[in-house]
Amino acid sequence: MTLLQEKWRAYRTPGYYTKYDYAWRLVVDLDSCTGCGACVVACQAENNLPIVGERAFQEKRDMKWLRIERYWEGEYPDIKMRFLPMMCQHCDQAPCETVCPVAATYHNQDGLNVQVYNRCVGTRSCAAYCPYEVRYFNWFSASWEAPLEQQLNPEVSIREKGVMEKCTFCVQRIRQAKDEAKDEGRRVQEDDFTTACAQSCPSKALHFGDANDPQSAVSQLAKNPRAYHVLSELNTEPSVTYLARGKAMESAS
Ligand code: SF4
Repeated sequence: MTLLQEKWRAYRTPGYYTKYDYAWRLVVDLDSCTGCGACVVACQAENNLPIVGERAFQEKRDMKWLRIERYWEGEYPDIKMRFLPMMCQHCDQAPCETVCPVAATYHNQDGLNVQVYNRCVGTRSCAAYCPYEVRYFNWFSASWEAPLEQQLNPEVSIREKGVMEKCTFCVQRIRQAKDEAKDEGRRVQEDDFTTACAQSCPSKALHFGDANDPQSAVSQLAKNPRAYHVLSELNTEPSVTYLARGKAMESAS
């Protein structure tokens, strides 16, 4: 095996990075989430997600990088509706990365599961391997009728037909914050930026930050006894931590 092949194989192995420059993490407090959907709308506006139309929606080809899952607890008439925001978990051991034949999805030095649009050939294998079902395929090229095209975010590229996409943890905001911090000769601080979903959440259920900073909110919240990972038994090591609903909230609702 050549050195190039060896490096390529190691690079494709989950857990290749033993230490990240930054370790971006999202914490979702399910006690605070009211299922309002503000985060879904903010994500759509920030990341230029297309409105696919009624027919595509009926064919389950809608495009959402972040969805609010609803489920019921209890038996009628004593039932309660619960909400769980679900987005790409940016798994440190991501099954989607190992299956892509062209390495269009891989881990970067910040622990992000990134997607290279112009390398993707649309096999959709990554979507089949993702246990969280958070990858979306562009069945058509999107278009925005005037004047809607004026709301597009110039920092985010428009994806074309045949390309897979998903939550990026607002990588454009991360990029900008890192560039500005580098110009000033410092590391990115907690208050420099946040993701669109966390920024828009009216009940502050979403917290985003760097887990390499032990004082950051995400580092502190990760120690909360309510903290858990969805499908943790799969050992995907997600970067999204959920805080389960507490007993106090159970009795109040
Ligand atoms: S949640 Fe799915 S798409 Fe995101 S990194 Fe994990 S396996 Fe990949």
